[in-house]
Amino acid sequence: MLQRWAVLLRRQPSTAAAQLTRRSFHTTRERLALRSMRIAIIGQSLFGANVYKVLRQNGHEIVGVFTVPDDAKGRVDPLAAAATADGTKVFKVKRWREKNQVIKELYEQYQALDAELNVLPFCTQFIPMDIIKLPKYQSIIYHPSLLPRHRGASSINWTLIHGDTKAGLTVFWADDGLDTGPILLQKECHVQENDTIDSLYNRFLFPEGIMAMDEAVKLIANSDKPPRRIQSEEEATYEGILKKENCQVKLDQPAATIHNFIRGTDKVPGAWLTLDGKIVTVYGSELWRQPVPEGRSVQLAESKTPAVIHDNGILLFGSDGQAVNVKQLVFEDGKMIPASKYGLNESNVTITELSPEEEKMKASVEEIWASILNQKVTPSTDFFKSGGGSMDVVRLVEELKHTTGIVLKNDDVYMNPTLEAFISAAILKSRDSGDKTFIFNHVKLNKNKMDLIIPHELFINNQFVPAKSGKSEPVICPTDESILCKVSSAQKEDVDIAVQAAKEAFDNGDWSRMNPRDRGTLMFRLADLMDQHRDELATIESLDSGAVYTLAIKTHIGMSIETWRYFAGWTDKIHGETIPLNQARPNRNLSYTKKEPIGVCGLITPWNYPLMMVSWKMAACLAAGNTVVLKPAAVSSLTALKLAELSVHAGFPPGVINVLPGDGRVCGQAIVDHPDVLKIGFTGSTPVGQQIMQSCATDNLKRVSLELGGKSPLIIFSDCDLDKAVRNGLQSVFFNKGENCISAGRIFVEEDIYDEFLRRVVGEVKKMKIGDPLDRSVTHGPQNHKAHLDKLVKYCQQGVSEGAKLLQGGNRIDRKGYFMEPTVFCDVEDHMYIAKEESFGPVMVTSKFGTGDIEGVIKRANATQYGLAAGVFTRDISKALRVADSLQAGTVFVNTYNKTDVAVPFGGFKMSGFGKDLGRDAINEYLQTKAVTIEY
Ligand code: NAP
Repeated sequence: MLQRWAVLLRRQPSTAAAQLTRRSFHTTRERLALRSMRIAIIGQSLFGANVYKVLRQNGHEIVGVFTVPDDAKGRVDPLAAAATADGTKVFKVKRWREKNQVIKELYEQYQALDAELNVLPFCTQFIPMDIIKLPKYQSIIYHPSLLPRHRGASSINWTLIHGDTKAGLTVFWADDGLDTGPILLQKECHVQENDTIDSLYNRFLFPEGIMAMDEAVKLIANSDKPPRRIQSEEEATYEGILKKENCQVKLDQPAATIHNFIRGTDKVPGAWLTLDGKIVTVYGSELWRQPVPEGRSVQLAESKTPAVIHDNGILLFGSDGQAVNVKQLVFEDGKMIPASKYGLNESNVTITELSPEEEKMKASVEEIWASILNQKVTPSTDFFKSGGGSMDVVRLVEELKHTTGIVLKNDDVYMNPTLEAFISAAILKSRDSGDKTFIFNHVKLNKNKMDLIIPHELFINNQFVPAKSGKSEPVICPTDESILCKVSSAQKEDVDIAVQAAKEAFDNGDWSRMNPRDRGTLMFRLADLMDQHRDELATIESLDSGAVYTLAIKTHIGMSIETWRYFAGWTDKIHGETIPLNQARPNRNLSYTKKEPIGVCGLITPWNYPLMMVSWKMAACLAAGNTVVLKPAAVSSLTALKLAELSVHAGFPPGVINVLPGDGRVCGQAIVDHPDVLKIGFTGSTPVGQQIMQSCATDNLKRVSLELGGKSPLIIFSDCDLDKAVRNGLQSVFFNKGENCISAGRIFVEEDIYDEFLRRVVGEVKKMKIGDPLDRSVTHGPQNHKAHLDKLVKYCQQGVSEGAKLLQGGNRIDRKGYFMEPTVFCDVEDHMYIAKEESFGPVMVTSKFGTGDIEGVIKRANATQYGLAAGVFTRDISKALRVADSLQAGTVFVNTYNKTDVAVPFGGFKMSGFGKDLGRDAINEYLQTKAVTIEY
């Protein structure tokens, strides 16, 4: 019976309603074209009220509303309230028939309205066919399934129980069979793995259902022959109404089937089990893909395998050995508890010491309760026993959020039904919103006198999961060539899952609905957690990439933390402009622009500063409101995975950050090719950048920003502060063992100080301490990986073979690990390979230029395909500025080098790419501008 859908339609998502109001207006032209109809609405609830409002806004005349009487406490149904407020006729009907006949008086009242169409958004009453068939266009009804599949009252439940991948709704013409009538229109959506009836309803059925009713009326109003597709009996499925007594969970089935059954009955009527002999209803199910955590075993009547109570729920095991985790339990007396607390004999936590802010918050909560329940409240007031219904739960959660900024879930109200318990829950939430019970597979190492916890699987939807193919790759420590661990290697199928998670988070998740300032709070929290884990992150970076520990603390990790804090501060400062434009007299016009996030962004990063390169891109991208699928460099992905772990503790919603270590040509390319990825942020080499740009162009014309290779010139004039020039010259090349994109690839030294500069540089290079990067006195660690070291050795050999003079180094060091001698070449001529190509290693390439030949040296410095950075040393400010103006590079340093800052835009010219990391410019890389023009 269609009337039984009432249970579902009582769920009232306020955000969905707000979205609807925004979407429901037609343009003037559309409204003129639309024929106005005389409509009677028969139904109830907020869903009915929204259908009523939308139809009215779109120019139809609502001749009358037939709805239910006020409830026992005198509360008016939302549809009745909306219609009364507009002065529309409202009939509150207790029953339609007497002795199997339509009540005559009611029939006459209905007939007098002269409706052309009955619209039944949903109703809990049985409407007689005399009323259904009376209007010219008869009656249309909403049904929450893709008819003819899953006919009947429990259709959404069955959609989930059967594990359907598509759900949907139907608007059909009423006939005698009620849900067998011809179909007018249908809408469908993808069902996600953990969808429940609530989530499907909030995300899709409620907002799209209301729009579909509007669209259905439009089809009738605007067409002589609106669609009437007869339902086929072959496709039809009719399953019975789910009643509580039929909802015992059968555990002799695969875990996925158990999960579908539990989520398919969540929350009405609720699946149940017999736990320690007691009947307990279970809610909040998910498939468990992590290792079985330590916990307490409890006996179930339904299975020989005991369930496991752990920090995050209760695990139930299916016949295939896989597990389902359930988050909440409800006992027969109606008390709901977190499943993790089962058997602990714990009463609700009561907090005694409150800060002044918490005292204020407590007073606000008391006020909210009193106003919702319309009575005085005391600590022991029970929300539900005092008349609070499900709609009031939504209002309580929303008002709490609005007044205090604390976000609780509806279930938190059910689990804390007394005022005292609710205040405690709200305060605990405000004190710590992090998830302390995050369990994942990890490697434990003890290095650098500390314990390291290193995740090593793909990070998707806030869970660490192995690659579907089971593929993994060893991570090699460049210091001693040992294997640190194996990291899962993502393939195309994993990319598909991660992109789907990021899309869901962007389209429907909390992230897209969150206030920008709240987004910033999460980012600040993540930065704080990174700070707390600074030593651990720096140690992992050092082990994985060979970065000298002290540098990792300051730059690799330190600048990453600063980056997150910097962009967290931008989240609430992203806005457009108002623009004057020519008026269309007699009307006036106004245009404004909005800066909107793009959607799912793919980020691909290199190995030289693994966490910092990730942070530069990801922080800006998230601050702008996008969601991310990141592919870090395959050879150095551990700190990106650690960042993902910390993001869960910081409270980032699932799907916002996804991290997929893997091969660039497989995983990276799949991200670049994915049609749901709308922007690529790439840092890496120029050839790979070119290929990515090509793929972006041929696929879905993705936006792309490219931070590519460089061969940055540094010009040292003889009037410089030579001590400073030598110090900076060394840093410009040997910083981070030369694995630095803005590394000075060529140093031009004025003739009269050339020999002195080289003498001092070589002297300093000889003093550099090479060794284990975790040793605090070491200044030069191993190169990142073996292939890179081999390339560097060849690079030096080519320099020698072309006649460049090798003053120092040039070889691999004879010890375990990927160590390269810091190298100095001089007398390098412009045509030589090492004068033109990037080494990306500790190789100084020096050339002489004639005294006073400013124009000549600028020309030589610019004679490169790259344009990432450049530098100049001179005490003559005019000369410095003239040279800085002339150098073709995205960053120019004067009397300093490597001085990057999170607030200063960073990115190249020419074949070093385009688009900026850092600074305000970086935010714009991840935004799109919408212009809105208004006539008034
Ligand atoms: P790369 O070989 O270009 O790789 C960069 C990233 O792209 C890696 O994650 C790589 O995956 C991935 N990749 C490779 N092929 C791909 C494809 N077909 N589709 C999608 N992704 C793909 O560069 P690298 O050797 O890691 O880094 C060194 C280069 O980066 C140097 O040229 C350096 O100058 C440049 N860099 C530039 C900046 C800057 O800001 N401009 C900063 C740092 C570095 P794998 O893990 O499989 O290699």
